[in-house]
This record gives sequence, C-alpha cells and structure tokens, in this order.
Amino acid sequence: MPEGDSLYKIAQALGCLRGGAVMSLVSPLPEMADAVDRAPGTWVAEVEARGKNLLIWLSAEAAGEPSHAIYTHLRMSGSWHLYRPGSDWRKPSSRARVILSVRDADGRDWRAVCFNAPTVQWLTAFQVRRHPVLSTLGPDLLADAADFDAMIARLRVDPRRALGDAIMDQRLVAGIGNVYKSELLFMQRLDPFRAVGDCDDGTLRRLLESARTWMRRNLGPGRRRTRWDHGRRTWVYDKSGQPCGKCGDAIRMRRQGDLGRSTYYCPRCQGVGGEAPERETRRRRLVVRGPAPD
Ligand SMILES: [Zn+2]
Repeated sequence: MPEGDSLYKIAQALGCLRGGAVMSLVSPLPEMADAVDRAPGTWVAEVEARGKNLLIWLSAEAAGEPSHAIYTHLRMSGSWHLYRPGSDWRKPSSRARVILSVRDADGRDWRAVCFNAPTVQWLTAFQVRRHPVLSTLGPDLLADAADFDAMIARLRVDPRRALGDAIMDQRLVAGIGNVYKSELLFMQRLDPFRAVGDCDDGTLRRLLESARTWMRRNLGPGRRRTRWDHGRRTWVYDKSGQPCGKCGDAIRMRRQGDLGRSTYYCPRCQGVGGEAPERETRRRRLVVRGPAPD
C-alpha cells in the first residue's frame, strides 16, 4: 500500500515525463472532463510527491509556469504505471482512471496510467493552494530539508493523542503510513498507545529521524523493508500471533485512531500494558489549520 516513500518512487519514475508534451488525456471520470479537453497541447512541468499525494503539474508553454495539476491520492488501492505504447498493461484498462499520453524531450512516447485511485482531481494552481488536503499537510518527512521542529510542534497540538494515531495524521507530519507506523514504533521500542504528551522532544525527534532514514533507504529499487535478517522484511507489521524477532513474545494487533487502523506491536519490547487504554483509542476529531503557533 502506498506510503510516503512509495509516492516519491512514483514521482521519480514519472519524472521522465518532465518537459514532455501532453498528447492526450483520457479519463472516464466526469470530474476530469475539463482535463480531457484542456490537457492536450500542454507540457509536463513537474511531478511532485507531497506526503502520500501526487501532483502532475502542467504548463501552457514549454518550461512555463505550471497552471494546472492532475492530483491523485492513491489510498489503499490506487497505483500509477508507466508504459510504452503497445506494451501490455498489468491491470485491466477498465480500472484506469487517467491515461496520460506524453512525448518526452527525446521524442519517446509514454502512457502514464493511474489505476483505481479513489481521488483524482483536475486543479488549477490556485485550487492546489486552497485545497483542503494539500493546504493542511504537515511538514514532509522526505522533503530536502525536513523540519523536525515543526513536526514536533504539530504533534504536540493535542498532547493526549496516542503516538500511533498522531504520527499517521498527515496534517501533523506527512508521509508515514500504516506499515511504517508499526515498524518504526517497534524499532524505537515505543508504546503506540502512549500519549504524545508523555514523550519528550528527544524521543519524538529520534522517531521522526528514524522515519526519514528508513523512508529514504527504501527509495531505491525493490520492495519496502525495515528488516534484513533471515530474509524477513518487517518486524511486526501483519504478524499478529507470530513470535517477536527480538524477544519471542507473541506480536499483537489493536485498532487505533478515528479510522480504526491496525497497529501491530510487541507488548514486551514496547512496554504495552494488557488492557486497551480506551481514553487514548476512542474516536477523536482534531482540526489543525496552518502551522502550529510558536
Ligand atoms: Zn518483543
């Protein structure tokens, strides 16, 4: 499932379209009707990952200012594939949401195909700046200069919130998905149900630095992994009931946060008590607008 590093890899892969001419855009979605009309004849100005969001920016002139963006959020099911004309697609064409045909700067033709994405939008640059998701994203873990102080400040907006819930909130810190959440908290030996307010700045910083390190390490080819020994790729994610790779105790899973996302953990290594701390896992709405105050 796509997490922040997956989106960076997709943006890297689609980077070959940068500077290319848009030949056509095909989409069955009514909300993309304007894009189908307006994208041909434009140029791909940039392919940008922001947290778990992808923006393909288009400009009216070659090397011009981007005026529109194809915005996708892939959530659990979506993907972008890059094909040469005539090559076989790895998913049925009935699942294609956007087919962007581009002739690159070297004259090669490409089809960038977005499958199954639940969110596909055609936005002006102004709409991107005002977008309810994009405009409230927290600092990006994979940005060139990651702003850990700003991330910590945002995490502290609600000190009662559980760590495993807070670090998944893209308005506080952008990039961490469900796999990284469980793996990072295990590797840092942190209780996912502990309140953010019970963690000092050093603990939060180490957790975020570790997130950045692992996500950057996974930007290369191959499947995402946070573990290398004995051919295993993960420590706790999706391993409920299996023995912990460090202490041998059974790994457990508990649902957490507004969306009830699964959190895998080792009770012994992470010092998690037996009973679910309900006050930390109950549904809670948190509104964050703009940067946290100093
Ligand atoms: Zn353990």
